[in-house]
Amino acid sequence: MADMGTDRAGDKARAEMFRARGLTKVYRMGEVEVHALRGIDLALYPGEFVVILGPSGCGKSTLLNILGGLDVPTEGEVWYNGHDLTHADDAVLTRFRRDNVGFVFQFYNLIPSLTARENVAIVTEIARQPMPPEEALALVGLGERLDHFPAQMSGGEQQRVCIARALINHPEIVLADEPTGNLDEANEQLVLDIFHRLHEQGTTLIVVTHDAHVASNAQREILLNHGRLVG
Ligand code: ADP
Repeated sequence: MADMGTDRAGDKARAEMFRARGLTKVYRMGEVEVHALRGIDLALYPGEFVVILGPSGCGKSTLLNILGGLDVPTEGEVWYNGHDLTHADDAVLTRFRRDNVGFVFQFYNLIPSLTARENVAIVTEIARQPMPPEEALALVGLGERLDHFPAQMSGGEQQRVCIARALINHPEIVLADEPTGNLDEANEQLVLDIFHRLHEQGTTLIVVTHDAHVASNAQREILLNHGRLVG
């Protein structure tokens, strides 16, 4: 039987949040072309907790960045709630990211000279209806560490500050790229607990990982290899 992938009849009744068709990404470095994505067809649904898995270099981050409007494909199309992100101009993509997406990366990207509260507060200036930084930090269990600097916090605490920062605009989508890549098991679990809570509240979670334990927490696995979907 032909592989019907995400176009199973049962899914057709559900509104798609993201639809990607034929996504291709080629990075050109002088004479060299790197084919990061080689034709990805994909549907993602509101409220899903999805992991994108695969070996290093298979295109996971590239796919995540395109879904998040941080990058555009070389060919193919991606829609968000029926809006074409592929041909959107920078202003539209900026608004999409600002109003809908929270990003969490592997490397915490905190400003060392700012406290936890200040690191979160700086994004309130660009968010539309930001929650108070104190509230965001309380959500990740750091209500007591508001005035600590990154150097005074563990890696797990720093990552939770980043998650608080990502939540400031009440995003309906959280995109995370190896969010537990630098964490020990206990801190990984704390981050997963936060993700589960967000999932229960209806947030769509799309998480790039190569960690089988992180993957086992998700509802659905998207497997990539050499820029192609394999599962
Ligand atoms: P993964 O997240 O699975 O490790 P990436 O999406 O980061 O994979 O990268 C896929 C391929 O594209 C890799 O070969 C990587 O070296 C290449 N690549 C990613 N970003 C760039 C870039 N900005 N310029 C050139 N090559 C890139």
